[in-house]
Amino acid sequence: MVAKKDIDWGSLGFGYIKTDKRFVSNYKNGAWDEGVLTDDANVVMSECAGVLQYSQSCFEGLKAYTTEDGKIVCFRPDQNALRMKSSCERLEMPVFPVERWVKAVVDTVRADEAWVPPYGSGATLYIRPYMFGSNPVIGVKPADEYQFRIFTTPVGPYFKGGAKPIVIRISDFDRAAPHGTGHVKAGLNYAMSLHAIMDAHRNGFNENLYLDPATRTKIEETGGANVLFVTPDKTLVVPKSPSILPSITRRSIVYIAQNILGMKVEEREVLFDEVKKGSFAECGLCGTAAVISPVGKIYDHGTEYAFPSGMEEMGPVLKKLYDTLTGIQMGRLEAPDGWIQVIDG
Ligand SMILES: *Cc1c(COP(=O)(O)O)cnc(C)c1O
Repeated sequence: MVAKKDIDWGSLGFGYIKTDKRFVSNYKNGAWDEGVLTDDANVVMSECAGVLQYSQSCFEGLKAYTTEDGKIVCFRPDQNALRMKSSCERLEMPVFPVERWVKAVVDTVRADEAWVPPYGSGATLYIRPYMFGSNPVIGVKPADEYQFRIFTTPVGPYFKGGAKPIVIRISDFDRAAPHGTGHVKAGLNYAMSLHAIMDAHRNGFNENLYLDPATRTKIEETGGANVLFVTPDKTLVVPKSPSILPSITRRSIVYIAQNILGMKVEEREVLFDEVKKGSFAECGLCGTAAVISPVGKIYDHGTEYAFPSGMEEMGPVLKKLYDTLTGIQMGRLEAPDGWIQVIDG
């Protein structure tokens, strides 16, 4: 066992802390090089680099953590690799081969093992793989050269002192155009969302809930998390749309609901009218960072729609899903095949 860094894991927030090693591979003349683990946390590139001019970049986010029996693992990294592949294809960027991608994540975490928080601290090692066009591009076209990097940074427990329900608002801004890039993890989707999120915060809301831009009647997702609903008869209802980012957390929750908890699941278009009519008993947001955050209310232009689960705690069905998924992740419950990638131990 590598000696851990001397960090008060429980009081860490969600911020960047420079760790020891990061992975870097360069794409040039149509091929990726071997890649290296380096101490150098700075990127040096042309002032005219494609990413700086036309935002050709995409990223992923996943976590490494220590399980109950002391293993260092990460959760379904192959799914992140496949999602980055689809992001690259949509953005005319070269794919970093899936097997090499997973190996690079494993190698990076191993090199930063001293930064993986201990079991029970609630903290995790956040892993950020990303790719960008690095050579000069001035006429609008894809870059010819790219860099793929992976860094890690330790992050604290997402909810300090329990998951309190949040209030989200229906946004007047759109997140993703029909047939646009909403389904891929492109930096540009986030650049566009910054004004909307700041505006939400200035008005006292935690997040924006986006409706489909074409008809403004169907629920899509928030700026960085998919949405889950639970009906009074305990059916899990998950909005479906080609412009929603395919969350790995959401897909894992759907699998758990269907195959482990024996719940009924509907993946379908969800009308905002259903929320207005009180069709749902619970609502939550899901993503790697928080796993599930409960939503207590949705605010829509002066009217608040409150869920029966209230503003004190996560509703019972979402809590069961949360406990099952985190139990699988932490090694307390048996994982479906291929879900846990062991890094060490
Ligand atoms: C990354 C992301 C999510 C969550 O995906 P996970 O794989 O569960 O972390 C949801 N929505 C958007 C827009 C995202 O970028």
